[in-house]
Amino acid sequence: MRDLRAPAERESLEGHLQTLRRGGELRLETTHVRRDGGTFAVEASGKLVAAAGDPRLQIIVRDIHARKLADQARRETEERWRTIATAANDAIVTMDNEGLVTYWNPAAERLFGYLSGEVIGRNLHAFLVPERYQAPHRAAFPRWQRSGEGGVIGKTVEMAALRKDGTECEVELSLASVMVDQRWHAVAVLRDVSVRKAADANLRRAKSAAEEARSQLLRANSQLAATVERARELADQAQAANIAKSDFLANMSHEIRTPLNAITGMVHLMRRSGVNAQQANRLDKIETAGNHLLEIINTILDLSKIESGKFVLERTELRLDILLTNVVSILQDRAQGKGLPLQVASEPITLPLVGDATRLQQALLNYAANAIKFTDTGSIVLRADVVEETPENVLVRFEVTDTGIGIDPEAVPRLFSAFEQVDNSATRKYGGTGLGLAITKRFAELMGGEVGVASSPGAGSTFWFTARLEKAAAPAVAVPAAGETSEHRLKQDHAGRRLLLVEDEIINREVSLGLLEEVGLRVDVAADGVVAVDLAGRNDYDVILMDMQMPRMDGVEATRLIRQLPGGAASVPILAMTANAFDEDRQRCLEAGMNDHIGKPVDPDVLYARMLRWLDRGKG
Ligand code: ADP
Repeated sequence: MRDLRAPAERESLEGHLQTLRRGGELRLETTHVRRDGGTFAVEASGKLVAAAGDPRLQIIVRDIHARKLADQARRETEERWRTIATAANDAIVTMDNEGLVTYWNPAAERLFGYLSGEVIGRNLHAFLVPERYQAPHRAAFPRWQRSGEGGVIGKTVEMAALRKDGTECEVELSLASVMVDQRWHAVAVLRDVSVRKAADANLRRAKSAAEEARSQLLRANSQLAATVERARELADQAQAANIAKSDFLANMSHEIRTPLNAITGMVHLMRRSGVNAQQANRLDKIETAGNHLLEIINTILDLSKIESGKFVLERTELRLDILLTNVVSILQDRAQGKGLPLQVASEPITLPLVGDATRLQQALLNYAANAIKFTDTGSIVLRADVVEETPENVLVRFEVTDTGIGIDPEAVPRLFSAFEQVDNSATRKYGGTGLGLAITKRFAELMGGEVGVASSPGAGSTFWFTARLEKAAAPAVAVPAAGETSEHRLKQDHAGRRLLLVEDEIINREVSLGLLEEVGLRVDVAADGVVAVDLAGRNDYDVILMDMQMPRMDGVEATRLIRQLPGGAASVPILAMTANAFDEDRQRCLEAGMNDHIGKPVDPDVLYARMLRWLDRGKG
């Protein structure tokens, strides 16, 4: 008889047989040998049975080899699965079809903070934040229970895990259903996405902050554009208002200058025609008043032109030594009248320069006249010094120092504004308009310079301004020797030369005629442009003096026609005489073919100087 038991088992099985024989029962698994020598698992159960007093062992052997192999395979699978689940980074949780936890891997322990033993048998819902576990997740989550088939359930959803310590953690949850032991189970994989979510949120915040910053920038930009636009509009309006004001002033000053011209001209002629001392004194007063009025009009007009941007400095050759001498000679009488020595203390600057001599002289006169006005004892000193020099230009500092009443330091900052005076009671005592310093400042600035004052009350003041002046390319024009006036030279060199005076206004015509005849010139008169053109066609004139505004034909039109006449008329010097003080008027005169311009009221010295200049040229 063959022993089917595997040799290794035989000894222990013998032991079991002994037990059986003693009357026990037995059930065990062991290994048997096949015919081919291979082994297989069997389940053996045996008991002692007594049949007719003859006890026998009854052993039933069942082949369980296939079942054993299947068990083994399942154990291995399970082992592998557990290894994976244990090593996984994501939390893996399985649930039965009641939703009760059946498995909870170490990653789940880390994520939730609950040990496996604390959660097995509890519902997973208890570990999720309820508000976040609402529709649409709620609908998706238990679907596996109903679906009855394996595989992934729904999409991966985001929700929040509720940790043992009460904190929440953003998770991503995916579900699958699997059949285990004939029953459906759910496998939930939960991934901690809090870091990623925080980064996402940061990114979103950064993006929206950037977006907000961008839109604020755009808003600010468009506000800025609107503000700039508004400012431009206001500036345009202000500019238009300034131009309107300055046009008004120009027209008004024209209206005032014309009669003023008549007044001062007549005074001049009357004085020359022989008057007694008292009359002469009264004529002086009329003339002084007239000049003062003219000065005020000119200053206001200049200020207004500067403000409206229409002011253009003249560019003529000049010599500063002569300019200072002029100022001293103009003011000498006034200073002497108060017993004040008036002198120039600086070295004479003989360098020929180019600039606006009239405005420079006016600025210096303003300072010097004030110095005399506000000084009772002591002296007045003028200076002009070159403080900077380049190959092209010089910066000159002009100074007027007095020993007068001085100025309270508090008043200094506003002194150079228009219509400012240190105190109004002084106006009654000293007179004045408060415009002198303001215009001086504007002139200095236009000339690339500045103004200032150093003063101590009771001790005196030094007013100064600077101006940048170009060096003249050629030497300055010949300056008449001292004592040799234009009037004198005209009489001497040009007596008998022929002039045409074109002027519609009777008194002004009489004034100009008187002045011209006085120096020996032969003068024809025309009352309007038509007569002027006719006379110019029939006679040869050395100079034509042309009024601008006249009935029938104005000066511009007359000039144009005269220039077209045959013969000498095309080249005769034509000088405009106009009370219009604007540069564009001057420009219009030049464009019409005129050669020069004399402002009204006609200043005899200016008239003679211009006559001399043009007659000298004609002679050459
Ligand atoms: P005006 O002399 O016509 O009043 P200015 O603009 O020339 O106007 O001067 C303004 C004010 O400055 C004067 O009224 C005076 O109060 C003060 N001022 C100017 N020059 C002097 C000076 N040399 N000494 C004292 N005060 C002066």
